[in-house]
Amino acid sequence: MPEGPAQRTGHRSGFVGIIGRPNVGKSTILNHYLGETLSIVSATPQTTRQRVLGVFTRQDAQVMFLDSPGLHEPQHALGRHMTEAAKAVMDEADVLIVVIDARQGVTVEDERVFAHVRRVIRHVATERGRSPTAVLAINKVDLVKKPRLLPILEACGKLKLFADCIPVSALTGDQMGVLLERVISSLPEGPQWYEPAQRTNQTLPRQVSEFIREQILAATRQEVPHAVAVLVDQMEERARVTAIQATILVDRPGHKAILIGRGGAMLKRIGQAARHRIERLIGRKVHLGLWVKVEEGWRDNERILRELGYLGEHAS
Ligand code: GDP
Ligand code: MG
Repeated sequence: MPEGPAQRTGHRSGFVGIIGRPNVGKSTILNHYLGETLSIVSATPQTTRQRVLGVFTRQDAQVMFLDSPGLHEPQHALGRHMTEAAKAVMDEADVLIVVIDARQGVTVEDERVFAHVRRVIRHVATERGRSPTAVLAINKVDLVKKPRLLPILEACGKLKLFADCIPVSALTGDQMGVLLERVISSLPEGPQWYEPAQRTNQTLPRQVSEFIREQILAATRQEVPHAVAVLVDQMEERARVTAIQATILVDRPGHKAILIGRGGAMLKRIGQAARHRIERLIGRKVHLGLWVKVEEGWRDNERILRELGYLGEHAS
């Protein structure tokens, strides 16, 4: 037998891009299929800043899910990079799961996303001779009454863009199996590229910094979440613990004061919650040291964006 990825007849594999405007539940969908938190989730729009690869493996198929930042009108260099990353996901995907929120139906922003999808499909078809299949996921159906879905389904059919329109709830899991089967049946035949044990292409420091950022998003409001970045400076395996030092970058002295909190209480709370998540991920005790540093205008500073991994290759 020659070396190489196993290829059974009928085995399917490919890239599946999850796209949509901010906050519709893209990362929650990825996490549902991967059964763990790969991509951080919050109620704050624009939580996901980079592309996250999650690998789902079963006997007959391997799905490489690409979570992406929401498509939105960028205000900073960071925002422009996020939009670039989202577009790169569309270019590479064999299947696109386009996500909307059932509560709002199809919004103007969603229509803009649909227009992108239509362009990408046309473009990729001429470049590769094979166009990606788009499937619409009408998410958060746990929050709406069934009759609300009818006009959305009707509108979806009229667009002639989607192979299927499936109401789902990424939170309760409702219809998520149906969506998965639809996605897998649209993948080309192909080998198993990744070892089944490999779940992501994210490095450990990146996952750690994302867990810290997730806790900051959970604890703060308004402009603070968008003005924050986390950089893991050091991870050291000691006898009984893993010692981690990380810097939280903020945009303004006021943000620093908020993050540290009265007598350091806020930073302590964030650190403790993040530490629990990291300990669960790596299965060891963790010492977590957090520093807060003011870097005005970091979102427009190319050097810092590169250092944070937000620039350069789209893959994270
Ligand atoms: P993204 O910006 O598209 O990646 O959205 P997230 O996955 O970060 O989710 C945004 C918010 O919507 C979070 O608070 C999620 O918990 C919530 N959410 C996602 N999917 C569902 C769902 O099916 N039902 C409900 N009720 N909430 C959801
Ligand atoms: Mg997200």
